[in-house]
Amino acid sequence: MLSANDLYTALLEAYGEPRWWSDDPYMVLFQSVLVQNTSWTNVERTCEKIKGMIAPEIISGLADDELEAMIRPCGLPRSKARTIKDLTRWYIDADSSLATCRMRKELLAIKGIGEETADVILVYAFHRPSFIIDRYTRVLLSRLGCSFRSESEVRAFFEDGLGNDAAIYGYLHWLILDHCITRCRKKPECGSCPLSALCRKCI
Ligand code: SF4
Repeated sequence: MLSANDLYTALLEAYGEPRWWSDDPYMVLFQSVLVQNTSWTNVERTCEKIKGMIAPEIISGLADDELEAMIRPCGLPRSKARTIKDLTRWYIDADSSLATCRMRKELLAIKGIGEETADVILVYAFHRPSFIIDRYTRVLLSRLGCSFRSESEVRAFFEDGLGNDAAIYGYLHWLILDHCITRCRKKPECGSCPLSALCRKCI
């Protein structure tokens, strides 16, 4: 079975160093909630329209219906607005010296924050090594021939294989996303795939 490092190296060689989510940690929090059940394009378009407003002191001072109106194009405005408000309150008081597992637990206690969103926030906003496992990652691993019995085995595959470097976690998550959007789609384009030599589908 291929290693997490083989996967990272092959994707990095093929696609080059990917972008980071955002250098503004609060923007990462805000967008990680908006992107749930909608497209990234939608999130970017919405954030472009309200840029200048996306700051914890501004968002926390808005009435619920004002925030809902601002984020409506991303869908589920009522529940997302409530999550953003709760997350913003948490962020304002957050203790950045907390251990990663404790911080993850606090994030997961916020309604509307699941494991994937918590890990996005930990990696991209707080630079903590907590690997993000999403549906693209699961599909890609299965096509490559890596089988796991549980989510914790998938986590161990990446975290044991890549060490504790949050930057690598962030880059690899984005590389997997790029790869799955451009090549390893529902109908994969295996002919031009940079992973074909490693992929069970092609060997
Ligand atoms: S060879 Fe095909 S199935 Fe395998 S990773 Fe590439 S695109 Fe996906």
